[in-house]
Amino acid sequence: MLKNTIRTIPDYPKAGIQFRDITTLLGNAEAFAAAVDQLAVPYSRAGIGKVAGIEARGFILGGAVARQLRAGFVPIRKKGKLPHDTVCIGYSLEYGTDEMEIHRDAVAADEKVILIDDLIATGGTATAAISLLRSLGAEVIAACFVIDLPDLGGANKIRELGVPVHALVAFDGH
Ligand code: AMP
Repeated sequence: MLKNTIRTIPDYPKAGIQFRDITTLLGNAEAFAAAVDQLAVPYSRAGIGKVAGIEARGFILGGAVARQLRAGFVPIRKKGKLPHDTVCIGYSLEYGTDEMEIHRDAVAADEKVILIDDLIATGGTATAAISLLRSLGAEVIAACFVIDLPDLGGANKIRELGVPVHALVAFDGH
């Protein structure tokens, strides 16, 4: 079962957080293949042009899903890492703010895109990524995660934006 391949590290990176570590899933050949299949299969006939992955764990999953869908891959990165002309957005973290960027020419207007990250918690990161994609004219078909933490409400926030959420497993609490 996919959920059993995810390792939980209590109190990392700080007290009270249950860190859901997907390196154990990624290192398990069967689990990695199953996760990529489950993320990709619902979109195999959806005409997806690009898979957008959020730095850094979204790159690992997103690259594999893009290859499976024969779609392109688009990185959404921390500010200052992309070399060409970018669009940037600020977003809130639990403490403070951060900024992420996408190349301005990464997606075409009306291109169908799915967004991928390892986990959705409060939804702040995914909301910002959806705003970036939409600012370029992309049609965001779904936001896809291995893990949802439903108690933190992020998935519902994304649904309220009109973007379906697809998560493979859920964990209670933080
Ligand atoms: P959020 O913006 O609150 O939805 O946080 C999502 C981002 O933070 C994702 O990129 C996750 O990788 C990371 N993250 C948040 N909470 C956890 C957690 N409990 N375990 C592992 N990663 C987390």
